[in-house]
Amino acid sequence: MTDALEIVWQLFDSPSLLLGHDEVTRWPPPAVAELTRLGFLREAVRVDHAACPNCPDRHVEEVLCRSGPDGQSRFYIPCPENLRVEIAADNLRRWMIDVDAVARRLASAIAPGGRCTQRTALRLWRLGGVAWQGVNRDVLLARGLDWPDNGEIIRQIGGNGRSLVFVAGPAPPAHIWPELPPTVVSLPSAVRLQAGAITVALADICALVQDADAANQARRPVALSRKQQKREFQKAAGDVLKSKLGDDPFVQAYDEHGSYRKAAAALSKKFGFPVSKDKVRTAVKRRGGVAAVMRAADSESVRRTVASQRRDRQRKFASSTQPPQLE
Ligand SMILES: [Zn+2]
Repeated sequence: MTDALEIVWQLFDSPSLLLGHDEVTRWPPPAVAELTRLGFLREAVRVDHAACPNCPDRHVEEVLCRSGPDGQSRFYIPCPENLRVEIAADNLRRWMIDVDAVARRLASAIAPGGRCTQRTALRLWRLGGVAWQGVNRDVLLARGLDWPDNGEIIRQIGGNGRSLVFVAGPAPPAHIWPELPPTVVSLPSAVRLQAGAITVALADICALVQDADAANQARRPVALSRKQQKREFQKAAGDVLKSKLGDDPFVQAYDEHGSYRKAAAALSKKFGFPVSKDKVRTAVKRRGGVAAVMRAADSESVRRTVASQRRDRQRKFASSTQPPQLE
């Protein structure tokens, strides 16, 4: 491990961000210096308990601090064998990866003066916004997307497929997103340390966004639930049919049922796709309104009555003129 950022990305998704002093001393000193300068590596509070270096059972005791004759602090633990045992100060030191500092530097690298907002402490940050492909997109940084408690983080990232999410580890499987997945950008491949400054390969990310948009376009129909797909299909089929029906069936249904709502319900049942009462109202309005439709219906019913009476008479006449049945 020689690249300073490589160290950060490897530790970024560790549940604990604390590091022992011995671990940090194993890193290349230039990397430690660089990480300290960037603010990515910070000294954390000292440990307050330590194992006894002298006893085989390595009993753990609380660390006590005393000022030595030279004014320097010295650290001890009580020990049943040796009364007290001194612990080297370096063995008590701890370090931490400052993930907030990483988020702030990334925000500045994406847009100068870019503002970084914490969404969930130590887990999710908004690094700014970009408008790519004609779409405004949130740029986010997430930790622990594959941890068992990731539900709330995933909910906050959302399923509109428009966000960009930086992650340190491999991209999580697409099925963790309830709807359309965001563009997931790998920090190790997109972020560099060049001449002491953090840079983000925006051109590469833009290509990733295009790929993710294309994949989401292809995914959109199957991203619908079965119920949604059925509704979409019915609506599309209904639109085609409605355009060919004209106003007649709507006006007739209104005439028959006497209310927009009842007419719409009856037509929905008849056609097998949803018909709104507005559609009925519009058709009635085009025919000159309720009064005109009712007048037309009345005269139609008069015509029907006359016609049916005439048919009845003809039927009677026909039956009376039938030749007598032969026995
Ligand atoms: Zn001891």
